[in-house]
Formats: sequence, C-alpha cells, structure tokens
Amino acid sequence: MTELGTRLAALFALGTLTLAASPALAYCQTTLCANDTSGVTCAPAQAGDCGTPMRWHQGCFGYAIAQRASERVPYDSLAKAMAAAAAAWMGSDCGAGAEPGLAIIDLGAVACDQKEYNQMSGNANIVLVHDAAWPYSGAGNTLALTTVTFDLDSGAIFDADLELNGTLALSTSDTDVQFDLESIVTHEVGHMLGLAHSEAPESTMVIAYQAGDTQLRTLAADDQSGVCETYPPADVSACDPTPRRGFATVCDPPPPEEGGCDCSTAAPAGMPARGLSVLALVGCILGRRVWRQ
Ligand SMILES: [Zn+2]
Repeated sequence: MTELGTRLAALFALGTLTLAASPALAYCQTTLCANDTSGVTCAPAQAGDCGTPMRWHQGCFGYAIAQRASERVPYDSLAKAMAAAAAAWMGSDCGAGAEPGLAIIDLGAVACDQKEYNQMSGNANIVLVHDAAWPYSGAGNTLALTTVTFDLDSGAIFDADLELNGTLALSTSDTDVQFDLESIVTHEVGHMLGLAHSEAPESTMVIAYQAGDTQLRTLAADDQSGVCETYPPADVSACDPTPRRGFATVCDPPPPEEGGCDCSTAAPAGMPARGLSVLALVGCILGRRVWRQ
C-alpha cells in the first residue's frame, strides 16, 4: 500500500470559557511543529510561532450532513447555515477582486451520524448535531467540536468533522437569537479550513462567542486575510471534492449499539437557563490523538 507509513493526527477543537483577548494579534493558522506537537503561525508573527500550516492541499473539500439532523435543528436549516458559511469563506476578498483558491461543496445527506476517519475505505466530512447528550466534557458551555485529520508530515488535511452541541439553545432565527447556528458553523468551518483562533476581537475566528451575537456570520478583514493566505487565489473549478478514498454515506465501522463504549463516557447534558449570558469558546485545542499505520 502506498499509504503505509502515512502519519495522521486528529486535532480537536473544543470550547471552554475564556475572557482573554489581545487586540495586538490577528489571524492564525493551525500548524504542526517539532515532535508532532500542534501550534500556530500568526500574522503578525508572535513568539512561539512554529510549524507547517495544515490545509486542504487540493484547494477544496466536500461536506455532508447527517440525514437524521436534529430535533432542534432541522436538516434544511443546517444545510442553509452551512451553505452560508461556505459562501462567506469562499467569497473572501483577497484583493484586486480575487477570491481564495477554495471550493467548499455540499455533498448532500449521509446516513452516518458519527465522526470518523477511515484509513482503508471511504469517508465523509460529517456535519452532525448531538441531541441527547454532548459526548465530551464541557456540555454546558461547549457549542461545537471540529476534528481535523491530517498528514503529520505535510499538514495536508484528509478529513474534517463538525459536531454541534444540540443540548444547548442553537437558534436559526434572526430575531430570537440564542446561540446562533450560522455564526457557530461559520467559525467551525474556519477550523475545518485549517485556521486557528484569532485574537482580533471583531473576527469570526475570535475565541469567545457571546450568546445572541450574529456578527460571526460575517467575516472580518482579519478572517479574510487568513483564508487568503492559506488558500491563495487560484482556479479551483476542476477541484474534486470527493473525500479521501471515496465518498462513504454510511459509517464504517457501524456505529456502536446503544450503551457501547463510545457512549460510556458521555457527559450529562447541560442546559443553561434561558437568557443566561454564556461566553464560550467555539474551538480551543485541548488535545490530540495520533494514529500510525
Ligand atoms: Zn474555535
């Protein structure tokens, strides 16, 4: 197999509480540094920058939404929010009328409803909502989790899955806004593209989300600079968005039965009181996991 020896890693973007901010810094790219540790490279450069930015080397990727969707977020609403997020990133201003060399394509619905990356078979870059319980820590203040699988040598992204915390008050309206779905997925798509948090307070990739805020739907100049740096203008009209090793619409291996090991550590669902002002990260790197063939 030509892929033997490929080194992969998954980087977890997970939310937590924060108040830290430094207006002196701007966009950052998620990188791989020495000894396979995760890091960032920022503009302007900051102390500790290191490594090779991870990105979709082919300049495009296709995502797929779990067909079952969510009691709180219907499939069509999630598809609409994702399409808006994709359009925002692809339409960034790279100067002189140019846009990023980037295509983000909706591949439709899939039966699979769990994040995974299969090294030996087809894949899907899944977008899904956890309704019953958030299966990670921080159930009460974590809005979403993006998991990116990439090549440790080149930084090439192979797979990116976006999980939303449906136990929180995700909202799709422009009026009774709680945790604005479009804002959240726009931020998370930034992570799927390889961007890290920005400390520019007006940016979509800012580390903190304030309940009721819809401004993250609109990319700031800082976000657009980040995506243009990561995906310089290029013709990607012929780019193939098929996931690595083919597009798989079902999980492989099948999802665990109820009570299976994947559910045994699920945290109890946390639901903040209505109207509670929750300041939450929507993507802070807390850990990583490495697979080696
Ligand atoms: Zn984030």
